[in-house]
Amino acid sequence: MKEQIRFLLQLQAIDAKVKELEVQIEKLPEKTDAARRDLAKLEAMVAAERAKVTETETWKRQQETLLEREQDGLRSAKLKLNASRTGKEYNAASKEIDNKRRSMLEREAEVQKVMDALGETTAQVVAHEADVEGIRQTLAAEEAVVAERIEALKVEAVAAGAGRDEIRAQIDPALLKTYDKMSATRGFGVAPVEKGVCRGCHTSLLPQLNNTLARGDSIETCPRCSRIIYRPEVIDPPAAEEG
Ligand SMILES: [Zn+2]
Repeated sequence: MKEQIRFLLQLQAIDAKVKELEVQIEKLPEKTDAARRDLAKLEAMVAAERAKVTETETWKRQQETLLEREQDGLRSAKLKLNASRTGKEYNAASKEIDNKRRSMLEREAEVQKVMDALGETTAQVVAHEADVEGIRQTLAAEEAVVAERIEALKVEAVAAGAGRDEIRAQIDPALLKTYDKMSATRGFGVAPVEKGVCRGCHTSLLPQLNNTLARGDSIETCPRCSRIIYRPEVIDPPAAEEG
């Protein structure tokens, strides 16, 4: 029975180590998660800025097309002016020319104003895009380090689990079933009893059970937490008492 407890303790030590490594593996990507989310936000912001620039450039081309049409209109108004035979026709053509000139000047001024602002905005967008690219590269480097660390931990976890199957093969199946159930539901399945207290759930055991444990010839479970319990001094007696 003592041998069984020793195997269980070996198994529990291996499982704890493997589990600890698995938790580390699971948590490592969290280190870069926040940075990844921040980057996504920045990328969206810069993309929106870039879209606005593109939109303004489209507007500018539309304005240029309108100006060309107005230029044509101005030319035909001038022809009308030259061809005018009466004072009335002359005045009408003259007025039309003035209106078209004013309209074109206004449009040109507006385009110029927007283009001046766009120059500044475009420079900002280019700078923001460069910043984002820098962040992207830094993050990629960090993620590569994390990935490398995860690979190393996986190798470590495999090494830590070595011999596990051999130990399990030595343990009574019913006992193993209890151990697995407790490990899954309560974190660990085997608990020492010290000074009559189960270290799994910190409950004082009845003296009778504690005495049974002292004999070390049976497998007992804690009445409170159901873990397999043992007295360390019985399983692994101090050297002085052995002599
Ligand atoms: Zn207990």
